[in-house]
Amino acid sequence: MPGIDLHAHTSVSDGTEAPGELVRAAVDAGLDVVAITDHDATSGWEEAFAAARGTGITVVPGLELSTQLDYASVHVLGYLVDPADPGLVAETERIREERLHRARSMVERIAVDYPDLSWERVLEHTTPDATVGRPHIADALVALGHVPDRTAAFGSILHWQGGYYRPHEAPPPLEGVRLIVAAGGVPVIAHPGARGPERVLSDARMRGLVDAGLAGLEIAHRDNPPASRERLRALAERFGLLTTGSSDYHGAGKPNRLGENTTDPEAYARIVERATGSAPVTG
Ligand code: AMP
Ligand code: FE
Ligand code: FE
Ligand code: ZN
Repeated sequence: MPGIDLHAHTSVSDGTEAPGELVRAAVDAGLDVVAITDHDATSGWEEAFAAARGTGITVVPGLELSTQLDYASVHVLGYLVDPADPGLVAETERIREERLHRARSMVERIAVDYPDLSWERVLEHTTPDATVGRPHIADALVALGHVPDRTAAFGSILHWQGGYYRPHEAPPPLEGVRLIVAAGGVPVIAHPGARGPERVLSDARMRGLVDAGLAGLEIAHRDNPPASRERLRALAERFGLLTTGSSDYHGAGKPNRLGENTTDPEAYARIVERATGSAPVTG
């Protein structure tokens, strides 16, 4: 069985490794295929393609689009989009900009109680033009000694009930799916069993998403509670959706390890067949 891992982050968003380092880590992990799916950004693709050269690994370019419904955050993976599609470019720019405002606002609130935290401190943990999120605030809080690691930060200061949380605006999932399809890509709902998405995936909404071109559900993922997976599999079957499995690797930023969940070759082949925006690159 080839190792196909369709969800990984780099320092273009909240992973800790540069795109080239991600690809080298994927080669070391023995993967045959790895997707680069940064939050709301495609700017890591070229470096990933270059790093693949001569290694034999296949890089699937993609992104993980932020969407939201009724305050619940729903992540939609978009594989093989055209990275120059004007609609997608405009919306991802808007989301990244909105995320910046939101992160600054959270930092201001936190700094009332942790005065050594500042926006400059947070920026030290980002790369230029990165999609900035709570993980970068977490890194600054770790560096200042307020929490031991990102996980502890998310469980306390950055928790949505932690007193400092601010939401960021994003389009509804239906619009996210439409944007990805219009960019020639293949939309798959990321970790749909996680608390946010699980609440908004009614049958009626699923019908709308599938009619708009939703291709699949990411089922083998550590954030989908085991009890939710059977329901998700039944849902996928009922709506004719493919199912994937992935690690959601973030380098040192999360315990998730490359290849801890993988996707069947048939599902991967269907994704590649459906795409018109871009193609996988084999090094
Ligand atoms: P944000 O989108 O800024 O609200 O932050 C959510 C992001 O933080 C997600 O993309 C996750 O990858 C990451 N994240 C969520 N929980 C944790 C955690 N416990 N440890 C590390 N990263 C996390
Ligand atoms: Fe993330
Ligand atoms: Fe996600
Ligand atoms: Zn992710």
